Amino acid sequence: MQAILEAIRAGASGEDLAALPIPESYRAAHLRRSDEAMFEGMPSKDKDPRKALHVGEVATPVLAPDEVYLAVMASSINFNTVWSSIFEPLSTFGFLDRMARESEWAARHALDHHVVGSDASGVVLAVGSAVRNWRPGDKVVAHCNYIDDQDPSAHDDSMLAANQRIWGFETNFGGLADLAVLKANQLMPKPAHLTWEEAAVNGLCASTSYRMLVGRNAARMKQGDRVFIWGATGGLGGYATQLVLNGGGIPVGVVSSPDKAEILRRLGCEATIDRVAEGFAFWKDEHTQDEAEWRRLGKTVRSLVGDDPDIVFEHPGRSTMGASVFVCKRGGTIVTCAATSGYMIEYDNRHLWMKLKRIVSSHFANYQEAWGMNELISRGAIHPILSACFPLEEVGEAAYQVHHNMHEGKLGVLCLASERGLGIDDPEMRARIGEDRIRLFERT
Ligand code: NAP
Repeated sequence: MQAILEAIRAGASGEDLAALPIPESYRAAHLRRSDEAMFEGMPSKDKDPRKALHVGEVATPVLAPDEVYLAVMASSINFNTVWSSIFEPLSTFGFLDRMARESEWAARHALDHHVVGSDASGVVLAVGSAVRNWRPGDKVVAHCNYIDDQDPSAHDDSMLAANQRIWGFETNFGGLADLAVLKANQLMPKPAHLTWEEAAVNGLCASTSYRMLVGRNAARMKQGDRVFIWGATGGLGGYATQLVLNGGGIPVGVVSSPDKAEILRRLGCEATIDRVAEGFAFWKDEHTQDEAEWRRLGKTVRSLVGDDPDIVFEHPGRSTMGASVFVCKRGGTIVTCAATSGYMIEYDNRHLWMKLKRIVSSHFANYQEAWGMNELISRGAIHPILSACFPLEEVGEAAYQVHHNMHEGKLGVLCLASERGLGIDDPEMRARIGEDRIRLFERT
C-alpha cells in the first residue's frame, strides 16, 4: 500500500495507478467471528468496542465485474460500527453468512473476520470488467447502499430492494481500512474543496438525513416548516439542522450541553433546548412515561418558535418517542430511522390518531438521494460536521467515544492519509466558503 500512497500523493495518473499491483493483503479494522460471544450477559454500556475492534492485515478479496478497489484515504465512525463492535442487537457475522447463500460473489463475504465501516473517501485503483462510469485515478466518496441490481425490487426506490444491505455493516470489505471493495454504483465524486477526512464523514449520515427530510420518500419538508431535531449536533442531527436551514425551515435543536448549544447557534439554529440543563426526563421509571414532561417540552417548543413542530426528526427511540408523538403538530410527521436507546417503543396512540399525525419510517438513502446530498456538499451549501480525527489504529477508541456520546458531529478516521489536511483540489472555492464554516464542528 505504501507504493500506492506515494503514487497518489505524487499525483500519479490513472494509468500509472492502474499499473500498480493490488497488494495481497491490507490493513483493516475488523471484528473476529471467534469474539462473537465476548460480551454475552453484559449491559450495553459495558460492552467495549476497543476490545472487539482489531486492526491488522487481512487478505484482499478478488474483484467482481461490477466492483472497484478503492484506496481509502479516510473513513468515519458511524453508529453501525458501534453496533457491530458490541455485537448488538445481532452479530454481523449472521448477515455475512446469509448473504453468502445468494451467489458465488456474495460467498466471498462470509469470512472469519468482518472489515467494518460504511464511509470512505479515496482514489479508485482498479475497476471490474463491467464498470462503465469510473476509472483508476478517480477521486470519490462512497455511499453505503449496497443493492443487487438484478433484482426487480431494486428498480423503483432501491431502498425497497428485497436484499438491500448497508455496505461495511451487512457486507464485508468496508471502509475502515486502507483498501475497500465497493460496487461501482456506490461511488460519487469527491467534493473538491474538502480534505480527505472532511469528505469521508458525510456519506452515511448526511444521506440518511436528506432522505428523512428532503424529497418524496419520508417527511417531505416544506419551506417554513418547524422541524424538531433530537441530537441536533450528532451525526444525523448536524446535517438535519443544516438541511432545514438550507431548505427554508425553522429548526428546533435539542442537545445535551452548553457547548453543543453554542455549535447550534453558530450553525444558525436560534431555537435550542439543552435537555440536560432543563432536566427533561420522559420516563418516571422503566414502565411509566411522564405526560407532564411531554407537555413541558411542547410548551418550551411553542415558546421558542410559536407553534408545534410540523416534523419531528426522531432516532433516540424508546427514551423519546412518546414525547416526539406528543409534541408533533396536528397533521404533522414524526420521521424515524433508528432507536438508539431501545427499539421497543411506547407512545400514546390517542395523540397520534386524534390529531391525524403520521409516523414515517426511513432508512439510509437510494443512490439518487445520496447523490443529491453529495451535490449540496460539493456546492458548499451543506458542510461536513467533522469534530475530531483518529488514526486507523485508534478506531476502537473512536467507536468507544461514539458509543458513550462523548463526541459532537462526526469522528473521522485517517486511513492511507496519514496526516490531516490533504486532498484539497479547489482551494479557491474553500477560501470563498471560509474555513470557519467548513470546520465549524472541530474541537479546538
Ligand atoms: P450520534 O452521532 O451518536 O448522535 C445521536 C445524538 O442523539 C447524540 O448526539 C445525542 O445528542 C442524542 N441522543 C442520544 N441518546 C439520546 C437519548 N436517550 N435521548 C435524547 N437524545 C439522545 O449518532 P447518529 O449517527 O446521529 O445516529 C443516531 C442513531 O441513528 C443511531 O442509532 C444510528 O445507528 C442510527 N442511524 C440509522 C441510520 C439509518 O439509515 N437507518 C443512519 C444513520 C444512523 P445530545 O446528547 O446532544 O442530545
